[in-house]
Amino acid sequence: MLWIRSSYFDAMAQFAFTPPAQPTIAIDGTDTVFPVRRIYCVGRNYAAHAREMGGDDREPPFFFSKPADAIVNCPPGKTVAIGYPSATNDLHYEVELVAALSSGGRDLTPEQGLAAVFGYGIGIDLTRRDLQNGFKAKGQPWDAAKGFDCSAPISPLRPVTASGHASLDARIWLKCDGATRQDSRIDAMIWSVGETIAQCSRLWTLAAGDLIFTGTPEGVGPVLRGQTLEAGIDGVGALSLRIDP
Ligand code: MN
Repeated sequence: MLWIRSSYFDAMAQFAFTPPAQPTIAIDGTDTVFPVRRIYCVGRNYAAHAREMGGDDREPPFFFSKPADAIVNCPPGKTVAIGYPSATNDLHYEVELVAALSSGGRDLTPEQGLAAVFGYGIGIDLTRRDLQNGFKAKGQPWDAAKGFDCSAPISPLRPVTASGHASLDARIWLKCDGATRQDSRIDAMIWSVGETIAQCSRLWTLAAGDLIFTGTPEGVGPVLRGQTLEAGIDGVGALSLRIDP
């Protein structure tokens, strides 16, 4: 019997109960799926959003995480419904480019970070803004504001081998009940995808299966019960998400 990193290995051992399902994301144009290991998110990565949140637009990136099973797969052409989360009266949308990794490592250069990207999706970093503001004021951790059930809706991934890297002039947008609320471009990011992955790899050893939510542009706001969010990134994909009444 050995402890090997995160697994206690004993060939005869049985699971005490059925292990939880491996969270996965659909991959565009294939029958294969992407197994999710960890979800990292960048706090502020668009200058205008940093300013709207009361911050400085030159701060280095900071990170938080969501559980892997916070993923909600949003198939193309369909509207997926989720329940309004508990314990909030101010659920906010944040549309984000998501980089999905097929390799990893630590202390990566931006070039190595970019080379680790398997593909891209569009995700929404759903946020209990009222809880987050309370936690900020008290210096408390953000987990319950960011890492709740169903807090990471995402489109199918588009592999770099098929579509290349996300274009810098790609438009990133979100509509709430048909009204445009967020509308920016990928090149408005403060830290590029490669730089973000490099910074993240100084804090954690990255690995295949990791997702990086790369931050949201300005225009974040509330989504109410019964409203529908539509979001997209040119060349990456789109999704549609309804919040149950
Ligand atoms: Mn975010």
